[in-house]
Amino acid sequence: MITVMTGAGISTDSGIPDFRGPSGLWRNDPDHEKLVTIDYYLADPDIRRRSWLFRRNSPARTAVPNAAHLALVELERAGLLDRLVTQNIDGLHQKAGSSPDRVLELHGNMSGVLCVRCEARSTLAEALARIDEGEPDPACLVCGGILKTTTVMFGEALPGEVVAEAVQATERSTTFVAIGTSLQVQPAASLAGLAVRSGARFVIVNAEPTPYDDFAAELIRDPIGEAVPQLVARFTA
Ligand code: NAD
Repeated sequence: MITVMTGAGISTDSGIPDFRGPSGLWRNDPDHEKLVTIDYYLADPDIRRRSWLFRRNSPARTAVPNAAHLALVELERAGLLDRLVTQNIDGLHQKAGSSPDRVLELHGNMSGVLCVRCEARSTLAEALARIDEGEPDPACLVCGGILKTTTVMFGEALPGEVVAEAVQATERSTTFVAIGTSLQVQPAASLAGLAVRSGARFVIVNAEPTPYDDFAAELIRDPIGEAVPQLVARFTA
């Protein structure tokens, strides 16, 4: 069975910038990292205001899946996909039609909101409505605590059960495909090393080099929107 891990690069064709690619958010605004780093977020109301505005203006809210997301749905329908591990928070795999129980969101998703104190849950839509009504840093309506999206910020732990399931899927995979990820964010990237150690055929689809390139049985540098449908066609032929 095939386990696929995706990163921000699979969604750039849907109009969502990645972090480290040539048009990535961090290349254009190195300060952007603070908006998604928990210590800065909790300590500084101005960072929170900017972080909410970033979410409000994010193309991810209206983005639609592209050919690569759709090809991975075909891989699942062909019965070849075990788990789809994603570092993305945009929900585009589920929007494309991948089964939610096969998609493992290592870094959460941006559609939910959580109070960091009492853990009350609400939605991004509710928080953005309050921002539009003049509350730039909306507080929890239950306890007054700080709200954040249900995304894993830098400095936060990953959801343990999701990671455990991703590790199991990686260990049992016969082929492990990493798509659109610079493989620089741990512990997500370490799944690539685990796949290699477990004997999986390791395939990378990414325009730029990654620290794991030397371990790949196949390295595809072509644009993801073309390369992934071609790869899936090969798997399902
Ligand atoms: P990254 O930005 O570090 O790397 C993306 C890689 O994709 C780059 O190496 C780039 O060269 C490659 N790439 C981009 N578009 C491509 C294309 N069309 N064809 C071929 N290659 C392409 O992304 P990452 O490794 O996922 O790590 C970034 C972190 O940021 C993750 O934790 C993720 O949660 C988060 N993030 C998510 C989104 C999203 O949900 N869409 C967007 C930005 C950042």
